[in-house]
Amino acid sequence: MTRKILVTSALPYANGAIHLGHLVEYIQTDIWVRFQKMQPKERVSECWYVCADDTHGTPIMLRAEKDGITPEALIARVHSEHSRDFAGFHVAFDNFYTTHSDETRDCANEIYSRLQKGGLIEKRSIEQYYDPVRQMFLPDRFIKGECPKCGAKDQYGDNCENCGAAYTPNDLIDPYSTVSGAKPELRNSDHYFFRLSDSSCQSFLRRWTRESGRLQPEAANKMQEWLGFDENSDENKLTDWDISRDAPYFGFEIPDAPGKYFYVWLDAPIGYMGSFKNLCTRRGIDFDEYWKPDSQTELYHFIGKDILYFHALFWPAELEHAGYRTPTSVFAHGFLTVDGAKMSKSRGTFITAESYLQQGLNPEWLRYYYAAKLNNSMEDIDLNLEDFAARVNSDLVGKYINIASRCAGFISKKFDGQLTTTDAPWLKPLRDTAQTIAQAYEDREFGRALREVMALADSANVIINDRKPWELAKQADNNPEVSAQLHAACSEAIEAFRLLTLYLKPVLPKVAQAVEAFLGIAPLTWSDAAKPLAAGHQINSYTHLMTRIDPKQIAALVDANKATFSPAPETVAQTTVGHDDSISIDDFMKIDLRIARIVAADHVEGAEKLIRLALDIGETQNGGMKTRQVFAGIKSAYDPALLIGRMTMMVANLAPRKMKFGISEGMVLAASDPNGNTPGIFLLAPDAGALPGMRVK
Ligand SMILES: [Zn+2]
Repeated sequence: MTRKILVTSALPYANGAIHLGHLVEYIQTDIWVRFQKMQPKERVSECWYVCADDTHGTPIMLRAEKDGITPEALIARVHSEHSRDFAGFHVAFDNFYTTHSDETRDCANEIYSRLQKGGLIEKRSIEQYYDPVRQMFLPDRFIKGECPKCGAKDQYGDNCENCGAAYTPNDLIDPYSTVSGAKPELRNSDHYFFRLSDSSCQSFLRRWTRESGRLQPEAANKMQEWLGFDENSDENKLTDWDISRDAPYFGFEIPDAPGKYFYVWLDAPIGYMGSFKNLCTRRGIDFDEYWKPDSQTELYHFIGKDILYFHALFWPAELEHAGYRTPTSVFAHGFLTVDGAKMSKSRGTFITAESYLQQGLNPEWLRYYYAAKLNNSMEDIDLNLEDFAARVNSDLVGKYINIASRCAGFISKKFDGQLTTTDAPWLKPLRDTAQTIAQAYEDREFGRALREVMALADSANVIINDRKPWELAKQADNNPEVSAQLHAACSEAIEAFRLLTLYLKPVLPKVAQAVEAFLGIAPLTWSDAAKPLAAGHQINSYTHLMTRIDPKQIAALVDANKATFSPAPETVAQTTVGHDDSISIDDFMKIDLRIARIVAADHVEGAEKLIRLALDIGETQNGGMKTRQVFAGIKSAYDPALLIGRMTMMVANLAPRKMKFGISEGMVLAASDPNGNTPGIFLLAPDAGALPGMRVK
């Protein structure tokens, strides 16, 4: 029976750039898909690779608002950037679509209505934080406040970065909205839930997650932790899943619930279906054959281990109970570290796809390095920048490309580009390894596949070094016997090179294409391993296929990605030779800077330089506005009457200071020239739109 395969990579979110961390997954999936597409049609008759931008949710809505554009314009711009980056790394989707599409909407509505008919959707009122200024309900990540455990300020609504405590936004002390700075209010609203706690969902998931091949062993174990280990237990560990959000929200409105929208995580995996449906329409593929419950086709999702919960629990439960097929397997991979640490903007290791390409680095270098490190587990992989250059130079250039560059010229110069027979016995093991390498690719053991390929390259290089074609060439002109030896040595080397190219083709598609042109052959498929180049086959003249990595290029890449807030070189020089004036970000964060509105401003009798200010920083007392009194030394530059109503910035946690005229409860920020060349005092002011109480950082 021939295989028909549908493959997906996780959908990138449409508010940011693709970086090297994302590329682990897209390169991994692309290699696997390219391998499948090289199989003979009688084995794999179809293999489709689809993806889409994940376009919905509050962050997209707010980001578009901040940029002063519509969400549609934002996602269109990001879609073109993402498409450019994927093409740049040769990630060849059959369709890269968007979740903001009619196809995804139709599929989402269909799944929702089927779940509803099955009694698995429930409406419940929940209490949630609401931003009264911005007039919207707040997702947890847009609420901050003081940690209830350790008291650290400005912690997110779900956990504390200082002490690691987990809690709900309701536990935060002095919560505030990061959207407007306002104090959020608890309000009730109706939400729609997918009843995952229903026994039919639980028993299905207990069975499904244990089925052979569905999940990697470590992922299956993780799921058992969440579901309970006893397959026959009726213990209920899953809670219902909140799948709706209130307006304003950028997404799909729920058909029978005006003002309610599908939560972005509901329609994101449905985006796989939407993208495929769009492809089916364009290419005449049978959508139902792939998604009906008893489908004989295969469905694989490549994902990062952080979204396992959505793909191994929510998604199969949705599909099963809405009458669709479930995934054949979910393949999770680990995270990327660079030089053994999390990617970091300040170290320059948070590298975007765009900057990698702009710096002129070859995308196939990275594809090769990732492949060499990838296996089918959920382990993290490390991009060690030194090892990256060394491995690519030694394996790809030193072992592989070198075979062609040392031998091809003699075929062109001495034999008019024609090969002699290439069925020498030493080439047999190179051909016979085709199946072993294929199995390693199939199993997503890419590192193992490449170790096999490099071992074959080593064996070819041993033979070539023994025969020394460059020595034979010196004596070949007047000696037919030596000439025949040279012809055989170089022809066989070219045949070895063809085989290695075939095995590397899923990883190095552009190099393979160039080699196919150089050898004058049709695009290589897996069955070509058994078909040696014939005597008399004409090749074209060799042109250079790949350069070495110059470590300077890596240094330039890291420099280009250093965040703009890194200290300027002269500052570094200063601090290293003398006193260290620098403070850490933590030191800076201790200063509670707030936007303040000047409510009142008066002259202070008996003070030459001071103006008394009353400042609103969003604080309240007994239900009314509470102001702070601050004495500011700005009298020489400002008329108090003209200050009233102005916005400025204040240090809100400065210890109160008792002065002759009263207590000063903070400090406003103003600029002046320390050398006095430009006289004056310049009060700082935020851009229009900032509100009293917003945090400045
Ligand atoms: Zn804490």
